[in-house]
Amino acid sequence: MTRKPNNIQPHLQERIDKAIANILTSTPYNEFIKEVKGYIADVVRGKSHTKNNTFTVPYWAYKPDYPKNRKSNGGYFIYYVAHELSHLIAYKKFKHGSNHNFEFYQIFMEICPKEYQHFELNYKKTAAKYGIAKK
Ligand SMILES: [Zn+2]
Repeated sequence: MTRKPNNIQPHLQERIDKAIANILTSTPYNEFIKEVKGYIADVVRGKSHTKNNTFTVPYWAYKPDYPKNRKSNGGYFIYYVAHELSHLIAYKKFKHGSNHNFEFYQIFMEICPKEYQHFELNYKKTAAKYGIAKK
């Protein structure tokens, strides 16, 4: 049985399903991503759950009035979804999905729309050495 994370915002399920579907159109990992379920939850930070192919994105990262979302037309949320998905794909491929390492960033750069990749640099400055470019 798939265990759901706590504090899910069910009324926003359609929004994250749509974000995942968006990423689906442009990645070599489509078959795997179809098995993944994402949730928007009232949590401090996102997390991927490799045991059951689920992940959570915090509600604050979704909010349309979050400044980075407002400026990027929802792009920060898409970036966040791509980040957590990259952990699940990295785990599937390399069995060490929780590291922010070279393999992780290869996947991230393939699935995250280019115009939103720079958000990663706010989170991990080290991402620059793996090829994440500034805006
Ligand atoms: Zn991460």
